[in-house]
Amino acid sequence: MRLADPRPSLCTACGNSGEQSTRYVDCESVREGPVVLDDTGQIAVDPHGALVTFDDVFLCDGCVRAAAALLEVKPELHSRQLREIKRLELQVELWKDYARRQEQTLASRPEIDVPKRRAA
Ligand SMILES: [Zn+2]
Repeated sequence: MRLADPRPSLCTACGNSGEQSTRYVDCESVREGPVVLDDTGQIAVDPHGALVTFDDVFLCDGCVRAAAALLEVKPELHSRQLREIKRLELQVELWKDYARRQEQTLASRPEIDVPKRRAA
């Protein structure tokens, strides 16, 4: 699967042409699908004059999101979790660096020679 480029005429699932900003997934699945009829019942053609068919499977972003919701895929949640993981990984690196510097400080500490006291 890949993002469709160029943009297809219709979504294979919902049949909507969507807005210009609608993104489509090209399922890279070719079938011998039916032709699409326009509002007058004639076989629809795209702006380039090609027959509009459902031979290639393209899904609009709305249909993909609806399918993802059915599968309990939550892209916003996953994005938030990924950002939190990256933030925590950065924190871990900062604390590791801090710990290394503390160990270096302790390793370079001079020995203090304190004479033992004798009992009086
Ligand atoms: Zn759709």
